[in-house]
Amino acid sequence: MSKIKLEYIWLDGSEPTQGLRSKTKIVKDFSGKVEDLENWSFDGSSTNQAPGGSSDCILKPVYCVPDPQRNSAYLVMCEVLSADGAPHPSNGRATIEDDDNDFWFGFEQEYFLWDPETNKPLGFPANGFPGPQGPYYCSVGAKNAFGREIIEEHLDACLDAGLNVEGINAEVAAGQWEFQIFAKGAKQAGDEIWIARYLLERIGESYGVAVNWHCKPLGDLDWNGSGMHANFSNTLLRTCGDKAVFDKVCEAFRPVVAEHIAVYGADNHLRLTGKHETASIHDFSYGLSDRGASIRIPIVAAQKGWKGYLEDRRPNSAADPYKVAARIIKTVKTVG
Ligand code: ADP
Ligand code: MN
Ligand code: MN
Ligand code: MN
Repeated sequence: MSKIKLEYIWLDGSEPTQGLRSKTKIVKDFSGKVEDLENWSFDGSSTNQAPGGSSDCILKPVYCVPDPQRNSAYLVMCEVLSADGAPHPSNGRATIEDDDNDFWFGFEQEYFLWDPETNKPLGFPANGFPGPQGPYYCSVGAKNAFGREIIEEHLDACLDAGLNVEGINAEVAAGQWEFQIFAKGAKQAGDEIWIARYLLERIGESYGVAVNWHCKPLGDLDWNGSGMHANFSNTLLRTCGDKAVFDKVCEAFRPVVAEHIAVYGADNHLRLTGKHETASIHDFSYGLSDRGASIRIPIVAAQKGWKGYLEDRRPNSAADPYKVAARIIKTVKTVG
């Protein structure tokens, strides 16, 4: 009987942005079902999750897909528990209140492919800058599109793993790309984003290319930052047929701007400037078709008689989708 490789993946305790960690467990046999996987443990003192004196943290498998790039193998997303079995403070997934999977999320993950040698995006010369933004978005051709072999390999890997990727595109800055993942159920959406991030990081290794998840890696220059727009809906938004309900849900976000920004990713003040298709971090606004608003009501919602979803444009590329979803659900649930 061939042995099976299980890559247990978890989020560490790094501040302000949690990083991916993983290690391989070899087992004799595996059904392919996550409920048949055992908990495991790791040294939390090496991941900012425990003191050295009592270092054990627990990995609880919660989502599992075939590993598309390794023989006889699976990728296993895990929640981190403290030694007593309670969710670890770094465990955002455990804070999601969506047990009936009524919340659907579509995340648009933007990121830069990054040359570790030059410490610049792919497509940037070692000294200076490429031509200004304009031609790169959805581009084709070696003059404007950089790293396509990587993002194509990533797309295939995601699809082979069974992740529900809905699309990819080259973004506005040189070396910047996006993928979209949609799932019915907030936890599933977060799980799929994290597995997709893991695959991108790992594929990048074989090209000597890193992924830069920072929301404004080029600083205060005329280069776009990276977001992770959160498109969301629940039964209420999907079925109400009433503009007033869309307004009410949007208004529920107004008094809790700070609580949302707190989990929308590090350094978001550098990105949410009011320029580059963003709203100011200090304001709250929403509007039909408005890409300069905090929350956009997609035109299709109006066209379908006020049924559909909303797009919170504020979460950034480095945000934890679990925490973003948990906070959005909390706010939307205040509307009955
Ligand atoms: P844009 O770039 O115009 O903002 P994208 O096409 O990149 O839009 O992303 C839109 C996202 O909205 C997709 O990921 C899609 O899955 C998601 N979406 C569509 N319908 C719903 C819905 N009912 N609930 C949640 N998300 C949705
Ligand atoms: Mn998009
Ligand atoms: Mn985009
Ligand atoms: Mn968007």
